[in-house]
Amino acid sequence: MQRVGLEIVGITKSYGDQPALRGVDLDVQAGEFFTLLGPSGCGKTTLLRIVAGLEQPDSGHINIGDREVTHEPAHTRRVNTVFQSYALFPHLNVADNVGFGLRMLRVNKAERQRRVAEMLEFMHIAALAERRAEQLSGGQQQRVALARALVNEPDILLLDEPLSALDAKLRGDLQLELKRTQRRLGTTFILVTHDQHEALTLSDRIAVMHEGRVEQIGAPAELYETPRTPYVADFLGLSNCLKVLSADGRKVETPVGSLLLTSEGAVGAQLMIRPERLKLEPEPRPEYNHFDATVRERIYLGSSIRYTLDIAGQSMSAIVAHEGHGRPLPEEGERVLAQVHPSDVVQLAAE
Ligand code: ATP
Repeated sequence: MQRVGLEIVGITKSYGDQPALRGVDLDVQAGEFFTLLGPSGCGKTTLLRIVAGLEQPDSGHINIGDREVTHEPAHTRRVNTVFQSYALFPHLNVADNVGFGLRMLRVNKAERQRRVAEMLEFMHIAALAERRAEQLSGGQQQRVALARALVNEPDILLLDEPLSALDAKLRGDLQLELKRTQRRLGTTFILVTHDQHEALTLSDRIAVMHEGRVEQIGAPAELYETPRTPYVADFLGLSNCLKVLSADGRKVETPVGSLLLTSEGAVGAQLMIRPERLKLEPEPRPEYNHFDATVRERIYLGSSIRYTLDIAGQSMSAIVAHEGHGRPLPEEGERVLAQVHPSDVVQLAAE
């Protein structure tokens, strides 16, 4: 299958006097699993609809492969969309639902049957071929919707919160399946979600959106480890933020005490520490920053424990993995030594 990328240049869109997109530029590589991540109202669905041709931008342009499609109608773009609501025909069976688009394209019956059978096999739903859509579970319906969107081999598959109606377990299973499907097909996928775990699990790269703009683009690990702004740090997981009150080279003063960084501190900047990078161990580790802390809250999360610590009157979170037979973990009210390595303290740009 041919792999096709997408270029979005200077896209703006307002509804009345309300701007939904304030100038978005993005390059999605051919064969990439790319995610638009952001809270409700940040403009991600509007951007997806513009790529699909379901909405016209006020300015800017869209190229799919080497062709500009900005003013092309939706049906001439080699793009399909999977929505949160599966939008299947309830009275048609699975095979007819999946083959519907091919029928509209007047693909002959034998070819249609071959491609539908292949796709049902590929999505592990061949056994459901004769079942009516209304007789399927939510997870099965979403597999059928995915098969229907992929059967006519789009250059780009757009996914608008496709898993958000499913329960947590099924959602996790389908996320893995979606990722494997994309890897096997090599089709460019663009996913819209407000769920950071989903974005981290699935994506090659993520664009974090904020009020109609792209705030940062990067691979999951890059965004999680080195967010540029407090907004991105916060959106991609739990974070502890500390303001730099004064700086002397790499040594800075913060509300929890002095800290050594790996680069020069900037007065007024925010420092970010992920909770799992804060170690709670009685013995000070060499080269680490150390703080006296009191455990205010201890929440059992199964594979880990989440702590709320009081450090010099500031509340900080720490997440400690269970090591099974290891030493006992601190209880509420205990005094502990919280430690963080300088390379785990990230200096963010001021907002
Ligand atoms: P959600 O996850 O809730 O769908 P989103 O990030 O996808 O949010 P959009 O749906 O793109 O955000 O909406 C961006 C902004 O544009 C919002 O302020 C929304 O109210 C507004 N908007 C979207 N569609 C329309 C419309 N058809 N008419 C008027 N305003 C709209």
